[in-house]
Amino acid sequence: TDNTTNDARFKGHDMLAPFTAGWQTTDVNPLVIDKSEGSYVYDINGKKYLDSLAGLWCTALGGNEPRLVEAATAQLNKLPFYHSFWNRTTKPSLDLAKDLLETFTARKMAKAFFVNSGSEANDTQVKLVWYYNNALGRPNKKKFIARAKSYHGSTLIAASLSGLPALHQKFDLPAPFVLHTDCPHYWRFHLPGETEEEFSTRLAKNLEELILKEGPDTIAAFIAEPVMGAGGVIPPPATYFEKIQAVVKKYDILFIADEVICAFGRLGTMYGCDKYGIKPDLVSLAKALSSAYLPIGAVLVSPEVSEVIHSQSNKLGSFSHGFTYSGHPVSCAVAIEALKIYKERNIVEKVANISPRFQDGVKAFADSPIIGEIRGTGLILGTEFTDNKSPNDPFPPEWGVGAYFGAQCEKHGMLVRVAGDNIMMSPPFIISPEEVDELISIYGKALKGTEERVKE
Ligand code: PLP
Repeated sequence: TDNTTNDARFKGHDMLAPFTAGWQTTDVNPLVIDKSEGSYVYDINGKKYLDSLAGLWCTALGGNEPRLVEAATAQLNKLPFYHSFWNRTTKPSLDLAKDLLETFTARKMAKAFFVNSGSEANDTQVKLVWYYNNALGRPNKKKFIARAKSYHGSTLIAASLSGLPALHQKFDLPAPFVLHTDCPHYWRFHLPGETEEEFSTRLAKNLEELILKEGPDTIAAFIAEPVMGAGGVIPPPATYFEKIQAVVKKYDILFIADEVICAFGRLGTMYGCDKYGIKPDLVSLAKALSSAYLPIGAVLVSPEVSEVIHSQSNKLGSFSHGFTYSGHPVSCAVAIEALKIYKERNIVEKVANISPRFQDGVKAFADSPIIGEIRGTGLILGTEFTDNKSPNDPFPPEWGVGAYFGAQCEKHGMLVRVAGDNIMMSPPFIISPEEVDELISIYGKALKGTEERVKE
């Protein structure tokens, strides 16, 4: 019998929230995950699930990659910890910085700064940009422009940069120096008859107007995910980044690429920047950097920004920022091994090769009367349930259409991300063709069950 819809996890308002991390309680009957194996995880009762979200868009090499475990164990035995303050550091931290900088070829990057998460990476970006403009003697150039529906993390500043109302209203955010511009979601926001290119032109024009209204001398940086993730998987419309970058450059505004989800192969290119011709000044990384086996994030800094920060004529003194666990040697050792594996196994090419099977297989369901849009690229995909195939006809939230679909997937042995009526998937890079077929088959069963439920 199907008890899943009676389960508190699929009923409460919390299913609509972007996440409910942190609180550890059994009140909501949590699904307790106990073990992982390749593209699968198992719950505490031994039930097996295809992990279509790769944890939280992060376990790129799947559940039990022995080389990552060995790398961690060897480092734990040798040097479990040393910090990276005051010109002291560790070899794994230095080696990872070198390896990582070599992987980024969209443009040359000069330096890497290690943190523990994507949120910390984006908070670090803000401090770096402010410090940079202070060093250049332009203390008023401090505002940030991010985009509606973006997700940049959960600390005070990263949540401010994010463009999701649920992260703002309850917390008196965003911070006043953060402005938001349009979400580049063509299906939802284009005008009648407007092409993708025209939509991109209009958004770039809106961005320019915002900059001019605020005063270009007050805008420090623009931040964007190459493909928006937690906002519902939103790939950019044609020519979008080309046009946005031209505006940003014109007003001497730094471009921060938040590659926390897109990096290391997710889109079938090493970085999202490679796919969309983005030449950023700063890059945020986390998640697949270590295939999520241990927490680590990083900020990459361009030669031009680094030169200002590290110049002899910079009178500010050192960039007084960092964390106890910045460049943690065990996390770094795991990340070094992950990068090695991505290279040896041609992971980027593998993702590029398997992604049509994944994209086309799921998009074959796009005609469903309850699906508004299925969108994605590479190994990232979003489904949005709406009525009448229209972005303007959402189902009543109390119907819990997305939550029901999530419950159906879980019943049939697959975990997906549910946020309202948006469903998100980003399987591990190692997913096999057979596993992709299984994912599509479970998706189809869950969709059929959800269609029947909506008809009732
Ligand atoms: N940036 C993006 C694009 C993300 O998707 C996330 C997390 O999902 C973050 C930043 C925040 O990363 P973390 O949860 O590691 O702080």
